[in-house]
Amino acid sequence: VLRLESVRKTYAGHPVLREVDLEVPQHSVTVLIGASGSGKSTLLRCANLLEEIDDGAIFLDGEEITDPRVDADTVRRRIGVVFQAYNLFPHMSVLDNITLAPRRVHKAERREAEERARELLVRLGLGDKAGEYPDRLSGGQQQRVAIARALASRPRLLLLDEVTAALDPELVGEVLNVVRDLKEEGMTMVIATHEMGFAREVADQVCFLADGVVLERGTPAEIFGAPSHERTQRFLSRIV
Ligand code: ATP
Ligand code: MG
Repeated sequence: VLRLESVRKTYAGHPVLREVDLEVPQHSVTVLIGASGSGKSTLLRCANLLEEIDDGAIFLDGEEITDPRVDADTVRRRIGVVFQAYNLFPHMSVLDNITLAPRRVHKAERREAEERARELLVRLGLGDKAGEYPDRLSGGQQQRVAIARALASRPRLLLLDEVTAALDPELVGEVLNVVRDLKEEGMTMVIATHEMGFAREVADQVCFLADGVVLERGTPAEIFGAPSHERTQRFLSRIV
């Protein structure tokens, strides 16, 4: 579904991604791990065209989306993103938060968009929250609304950046459960996380980022069980 080829991203002369290659097959979960500042968020933002890359190419379903002739908005409609801070619109109800993009961007009928939104809310255990405002919800509930919003446009791919990092520990589980369910349903996802236990459980592929490259990639068993690179070993030993 998603492919990065020799992607390079530099901030003010400081290379963050030097040469990143990544292949995300359909219905698979790729987890990005690496030290703070290793470029996980940058990679996700580049994949969603929130950042312009300096070199290389990114493909979505075989189409080069980093081609300057490609319309970024059209691409973003096919990619759902959820970040650490939920970024819900505080002055809008849960339902309006979820249906905003489908109605504005996709020109979906209100009735159809709301039906889909209510369906998603039920699936995410928020069936009774459609009319609620974000500040009346817990962090975990808000983050689930953010996931519902990302799913409202029926994306091909979901990018999740530290979606539990801002949550109180007792709320982390409910959000991770949603991600588990999405995996069960075959959603293609790229997830940046510091939750190693979770990474090990849901990942089909784990990529360790360091020095602007994917230094090591493999199955969770390979990366967590027997990392071959010394840097990966050091990173993991510091975390657990
Ligand atoms: P964390 O685990 O803390 O979330 P990360 O792996 O997501 O870290 P990034 O946020 O991608 O790391 O940042 C990678 C590097 O790029 C950092 O050194 C950061 O300071 C730099 N950086 C990120 N965004 C910008 C920006 N908009 N302008 C300048 N530098 C940036
Ligand atoms: Mg980050």
